[in-house]
Amino acid sequence: ALVRRTCFVTGAVDMNGCPEADRGEVAFIGRSNVGKSSLVNMLTNRKSLAFISKTPGKTQQFNYFAVNDKPDLERQIRYGDEVLGSKDRDSFYIVDLPGFGFAKVPQKQRQEWSDFMDEYLQKRETLRVIFHLIDARHGPTEEDAKIMHKVGTIMGSKEQRNNAKYIIILTKADKNVKSASSEKNPGKVSKSVLDKLMNTMKANHVGYAPIVLTSAETRLGRDEVWKYLRLAAEK
Ligand code: GDP
Repeated sequence: ALVRRTCFVTGAVDMNGCPEADRGEVAFIGRSNVGKSSLVNMLTNRKSLAFISKTPGKTQQFNYFAVNDKPDLERQIRYGDEVLGSKDRDSFYIVDLPGFGFAKVPQKQRQEWSDFMDEYLQKRETLRVIFHLIDARHGPTEEDAKIMHKVGTIMGSKEQRNNAKYIIILTKADKNVKSASSEKNPGKVSKSVLDKLMNTMKANHVGYAPIVLTSAETRLGRDEVWKYLRLAAEK
């Protein structure tokens, strides 16, 4: 198994709140309901890696999950399984980034979030991959276009201090396809959604990004996404 263990580490609201940059990390970004938790659970073979971002009020944190830490036996006995351990050779972080689209959040707070996101994408040296999740049935929203614009502006700029890859993930690609197996079900995305996606990507300077079709139901795309996760797990 590629994933032996996962546990929640911390929720960060600014760069100082991020854990020590001692291992690779991958970030998942997407609006709520896009299928982020389902995808991460599929990738890590979990029933439910408790995504704290589901908790109202915690939606604007960057939630860090440690994958493949060595369990700290003493703490494990005292607190149960999901506790912090120490770094192992293939440890990495999964970071759950909040999506946009919380209309009820005050402008000031949205700006703070946006600034943190900019700083994170530029300065987090151990960031290896940014996965941007978009629903395969609907294609990119205006918020998605904004995220692309952010990434497109920062990637390759002089300020950027990491070599992170940017990958578009189309989620729920099994929808309207009956068979629940990724072999029989190669996934589906309409030409109009794909055209819209490519146009939005080009318009926001991320036309180069790979697009991966996934489904948490049929496990479509798992191996391909794991190719990128390995970039974080291996030095
Ligand atoms: P999140 O808010 O982005 O974490 O989204 P969730 O993972 O909670 O998924 C939102 C809804 O979409 C849930 O009802 C899931 O069952 C459903 N869903 C998520 N992924 C898939 C998928 O790959 N295929 C299908 N058919 N439904 C999915």
